[in-house]
Amino acid sequence: MSVSTPFYYYDLTLLENTLAAMQAAINNPNFKVHYAIKANAEDRILQTIKKQGLGADCVSGNEIKKALEIGFEPNDIVLAGIGKSDEELDLAISQGIHSINCESIEELEVINEIAAKHDAVANIAFRINPNVDAQTHHKITTGLNENKFGIPITELDAAVDEILTHKNLALKGIHFHIGSQILNLNPFANLCQQANHVIANLKARGIVLEHINVGGGLGINYTDPESQLVPNFVEYFRVFEKFLNLEDGQTVHFELGRSIVGQCGSLISKVLYVKKGVNSNFAILDAGMTDLMRPALYNAFHKIDNISKEGELEPYHVVGPICESSDTFGKTDLPKTSRGDYLKIRSAGAYGQVLSSNYNLRDRAAAVYSDEVSLEEYISNNERIEELEAV
Ligand SMILES: *Cc1c(COP(=O)(O)O)cnc(C)c1O
Repeated sequence: MSVSTPFYYYDLTLLENTLAAMQAAINNPNFKVHYAIKANAEDRILQTIKKQGLGADCVSGNEIKKALEIGFEPNDIVLAGIGKSDEELDLAISQGIHSINCESIEELEVINEIAAKHDAVANIAFRINPNVDAQTHHKITTGLNENKFGIPITELDAAVDEILTHKNLALKGIHFHIGSQILNLNPFANLCQQANHVIANLKARGIVLEHINVGGGLGINYTDPESQLVPNFVEYFRVFEKFLNLEDGQTVHFELGRSIVGQCGSLISKVLYVKKGVNSNFAILDAGMTDLMRPALYNAFHKIDNISKEGELEPYHVVGPICESSDTFGKTDLPKTSRGDYLKIRSAGAYGQVLSSNYNLRDRAAAVYSDEVSLEEYISNNERIEELEAV
């Protein structure tokens, strides 16, 4: 049987190279990266990341379970989320994970109660909303006052007063996450400045933190992925080296997701029809927003290559088969495209497969890995099988 399109194709060599480049860019033994599982939670991806010694950043109980199943140590797992359920907190506390990133004063009482039930002390980091503009798409901005995330910086003193009244809670760190797909590094420098204020304020209250978690958010090159398959980790980490004022022994945690897995994944789809429209020609794919929701959700752009054709470029409006006008991958130039061509939608490793749904009762795209078969070989095998099946 042929594995039909659409499917995700993952280049594990690129993932390994990206991880190696990231580790090489860190020249501070106190810097540690927890991979943000929500960006891509496929087992093979997680296993590859785990092998490189990263920790895991989770935003749900099931992500904690997944991380444990893959073999991440509880002490390498952190949990964030503005609405953690009692069951999720119970799991986090009973497993003794490294840190619960607490996003409201209201949450403290609940965590304390659950920790008391386990006769445990839960390690807490306050997720602080620093009111720093990430200068990215407004739907992936998280660190402004208008966003729902984190404890407002103005409420920090009250949060400290509160945590000190709970004997089953220990304040170990602070946490920030200002947004995603951040390409201009200035917001990270601003974040460091805010973190420095917080660190100093807490120190003045006699609290010395064990870790400063600066979240994730480093962006990738969607417009021309080939020109930058591996993000500029060197510049990124340098910002924190330069601007964060750390106390002796304080560790800095990073929660990178997109920058690690974004470029290693592509969505491979077949053209079903090329339809002549009034203003443009539509290339109608067998992949849609159920497989890759980013364009519909954030107006995101993904570069698209026709890997079956070469030649002079023509404009196409590339769309999916689903009955929603937002089911489009945007307008792009492709070589003269026809039914049966394979298109490669690039940079789909992060927030691609994880966001897929079975809306319209569609099947979910499968995953194929580069160490099993090359993409060319896979496609030509597929074609051969389809021909045989057609006989
Ligand atoms: C989503 C998320 C991340 C990862 O963000 P990227 O932009 O993929 O690096 C990190 N931390 C938290 C708390 C998140 O919610």
